Amino acid sequence: MKSIWNQTCQIPGRNQLSGSLDTEIAVIGGGLAGILTAFYLTMEGKSTVVLEAKTIASGQTSKTTAKITSQHGLIYQKLLADYGETITRLYAKSNQQAIRDYEQLIISRSINCSFEKKSSFLYTTAQPDAIHLETMAARRAGIPAMEMTDTELPFSVKRAICFPDQASFHPLRFLEALSSTLTVFEHTPVISVKGHVLFTPHGRVTAKKIIFACHYPFPLIPGYYFLRMYQEQSYVVALNNASHLKNMYLGIDQDGLSLRSADSCLLLGGQGHRVGHPKPEPYDALVSSARQIFPHAHIVCQWSAQDCMTLDSLPFIGLYSRRTPDWYVATGFGKWGMTLSMVSARLLTNLICGHSSPYEPVYSPSRLHVRASSPRLATHMAVSVKTLAKGMGHGIMRCPHMGCRLTWNSAESTWDCPCHGSRFDRLGHLITGPAQTSCHCHKLIP
Ligand SMILES: Cc1cc2nc3c(=O)[nH]c(=O)nc-3n(C[C@H](O)[C@H](O)[C@H](O)COP(=O)(O)OP(=O)(O)OC[C@H]3O[C@@H](n4cnc5c(N)ncnc54)[C@H](O)[C@@H]3O)c2cc1C
Repeated sequence: MKSIWNQTCQIPGRNQLSGSLDTEIAVIGGGLAGILTAFYLTMEGKSTVVLEAKTIASGQTSKTTAKITSQHGLIYQKLLADYGETITRLYAKSNQQAIRDYEQLIISRSINCSFEKKSSFLYTTAQPDAIHLETMAARRAGIPAMEMTDTELPFSVKRAICFPDQASFHPLRFLEALSSTLTVFEHTPVISVKGHVLFTPHGRVTAKKIIFACHYPFPLIPGYYFLRMYQEQSYVVALNNASHLKNMYLGIDQDGLSLRSADSCLLLGGQGHRVGHPKPEPYDALVSSARQIFPHAHIVCQWSAQDCMTLDSLPFIGLYSRRTPDWYVATGFGKWGMTLSMVSARLLTNLICGHSSPYEPVYSPSRLHVRASSPRLATHMAVSVKTLAKGMGHGIMRCPHMGCRLTWNSAESTWDCPCHGSRFDRLGHLITGPAQTSCHCHKLIP
């Protein structure tokens, strides 16, 4: 279903690639990460083309809740415990800088995208100690976090943490303006990449540098991203006639809610789960929360989106692998891709232009933080092996990516891959990767 962003902004279409071309930089994917990266590279004078499988921002970016914040759940206590103070401070600094970068870019280019400065809150109705720990951790990371027990929410909370000077915007209006000066080919899926050549059904592109900003990088080897990430899906309902919230909120408890106002709507999100492991009736659960909190509200529209989760909670931004010196990647945003797309754009531009960046070791895809990732690695491997084994002998239900058995998501009427998160409509047409092709099997209709 269309999100409120899609309903209120139609980005003009672009031509598909026709024939072959040479360029300095090719960016695969025209979502927020790809367009921002292409923009900064173009500003540096690099000839850059974006190859987009569908249309600009038709992926997860069109279904986000678009909070621009460095408050990424209970991230800072986790980063401090797993990596120590230096990495944690750099993570905070890069995301705080990203908010300022948006503001500067939007003001300097007069982009009309409902950009608003506001505070961001984590709240709890059950775990005040977790909020207190996060406040302490965020302060150690350099963020002027404040703790409180009163908020503007129409229900009481036990404790909340506030990050000042965060923001929200209309992501598609932003991308419409930013992409207008870029060379983008739509309806041009990259099917494979060999060395410096990208192959599409409409021609090939030869590039000195290649950036995978396609949400989930599709080459299996090198990089092995399929071993290092899974995907999580979450649901959003847009409400009319609910309270207007000045600030943005995220509950840290089980089934905690995400809340932010966008023009006359209030966006209520939640019910997250690993793709392929659906919760029963996620929209009904959100609507029931909405009815309790905002009894006079009615639903304008509802949608879901998914994002890549790394096993150690840090995204992968940098060189794709040690074996591919001219390939780069931006992925694994853990549902915080607004600031992290900006971090990616600035970091990748620096790397490609030969400048150093203090953030390189934080996000390097070659890092190996065994302590942080090993418990989630064990779970991820167990799920993948189980569903891979289940897929064997059941030809009609397998994901074309790696053969995992698909599961039915009745809330969305989709077939979903529990291993890596590819999704297909009820007829087996590809909705989102890492799979590159549809399931050509009419027996998929349940
Ligand atoms: C419910 C929900 C709410 C969220 N809310 C927030 C929020 O409030 N704040 C926040 O910071 N983050 C949020 N996120 C996360 C954020 O939306 C994502 O991290 C971000 O949009 C990812 O952007 P992207 O450019 O990496 O991916 P996408 O927007 O998916 O872009 C990737 C593009 O690549 C294209 N593509 C894929 N394969 C190919 C190929 N082979 N060839 C060519 N093109 C290809 C796709 O068509 C797509 O357009 C949320 C996520 C969810 C699930």
